[in-house]
Amino acid sequence: MKRPPIVVIMGSVDHGKTTLLDYIRKTTVAAKEAGGITQSVGAYEIDHPSASSGQVERITFIDTPGHEAFSKIKARGAHIADIAILVVAADDSVQPQTKEALKIIQESQTPYIIAINKVDRVPETAAVKNDLMQAGVLLEGYGGNVSNQEISAKTGQGVNELLDLILLAAELEHLDYDPGHHASGIVLESKLDRRRGIVATLIVTDGTLRAGDELVAGAAHGKAKILENFRGEKADSLSPSAPAVVIGFESLPKAGDQFHVGGPEEVKEVLAKSAAKAFKEAKEGRVNLILKADVTGSLEALSQVIRNLPKKEGQDLEIVNEGVGDITDGDVKLAASTKSIIVGFRTAANKAAQTIARAQNVKIIQSEIIYDLVKAIEEALAALGKKFAKGKLEILAVFGKKGGQQIIGGAVKEGGIANNAVLEVERKGEVVGRGKIVNLQQNKRDAKSVAAPNQCGLLFDSETEIKVGDLLLQF
Ligand code: GDP
Repeated sequence: MKRPPIVVIMGSVDHGKTTLLDYIRKTTVAAKEAGGITQSVGAYEIDHPSASSGQVERITFIDTPGHEAFSKIKARGAHIADIAILVVAADDSVQPQTKEALKIIQESQTPYIIAINKVDRVPETAAVKNDLMQAGVLLEGYGGNVSNQEISAKTGQGVNELLDLILLAAELEHLDYDPGHHASGIVLESKLDRRRGIVATLIVTDGTLRAGDELVAGAAHGKAKILENFRGEKADSLSPSAPAVVIGFESLPKAGDQFHVGGPEEVKEVLAKSAAKAFKEAKEGRVNLILKADVTGSLEALSQVIRNLPKKEGQDLEIVNEGVGDITDGDVKLAASTKSIIVGFRTAANKAAQTIARAQNVKIIQSEIIYDLVKAIEEALAALGKKFAKGKLEILAVFGKKGGQQIIGGAVKEGGIANNAVLEVERKGEVVGRGKIVNLQQNKRDAKSVAAPNQCGLLFDSETEIKVGDLLLQF
């Protein structure tokens, strides 16, 4: 199915990017229907009657002017914008930042349109066009094919024609999507809202995003507990190229990261990875916690639930400190020195706290829902129970099979493994079987043991069919 184009506006400072974005937003149908100005979430949609088809067509604008957002996103290799508008003010012409923007546009091979702005002030644009040609922009009407439109973002002159040009350019791009797919797209921005928790703006570029979907974006994951359109209205589902506001990420997804709807297995994997990272430093056998909540009542509730958590053998919990209010840098420093996890219930971490936490690798778990916090703590406890392998072998090749005995080769990654040892087979973080080494060889000679970082070959007796990438763990 056809999807609307996603448009980014670039150009030098003061050339009128913000004015243009505001003008389009305020004067088009979708914005008018909303009955006023809504808070910006980083992108908006408009409806525009197409001059060529006569139909009302939709356009999505990224409304962070300037190319920081765009280049950040580009740097990660994602193509968020289908079309770029390069704004050049008629009274200031091509500036170094114009050239920078042009370079980004050209390198990313994004189709673009030139908007010569402020023609209410300077109607004569021949000089600007000349400068543009000099800068390597092959303008239409001058032997090239780059469309250009004279506009005034202030009076609105030429803006309708600019929107027509966008729709024309979009037609050439054949933008489409599959509504049956799970949603995927790009994280535009994410922030911690004091009241609502983690609020992320996503741009859906394929599939259909539904409220309740489990999402994965880089190392962040979460559930779209609340899904809203760019006007802040609740939505059950959103399709490309709609901006979507999602509440329910467990940690801040990074702007520019790609997101997709993940199955439970994948979400579990992301969770396991982040848990393993956070807890590897924790003292074996114990999880240390620092609790913060908005008011005394909720702190007491949280504290009580955590103290009453059932613990298995070898699992222990300690509340190092607890308090009311924001999570501060003091809390993070305490967490770093006591190897604690910070648990925030209906409270936010201030900027300094977030910065230090990132630098010191301190884990902060935040939620408005006690159950979510408890779940995360239970996972931390479960991670404690995991044994630490003395030897770790990564399988690089499987050569053949003799009955239950498999000839495999691998590299010892950690510690060492010994002949005749019984090893666990781990695949994607899960134990899938076990087996015994019946012959071990290093450099084609029998060996009693092989230590990291050497490679070895082995005859492995196991019911489990070993695959490349599996880990064999000796305890
Ligand atoms: P940005 O830095 O590119 O976002 O530029 P702004 O949108 O903030 O515009 C810079 C200045 O130029 C502001 O004072 C605007 O009012 C003014 N401006 C923007 N567009 C026009 C225009 O079409 N005509 C005139 N006369 N002034 C404009």
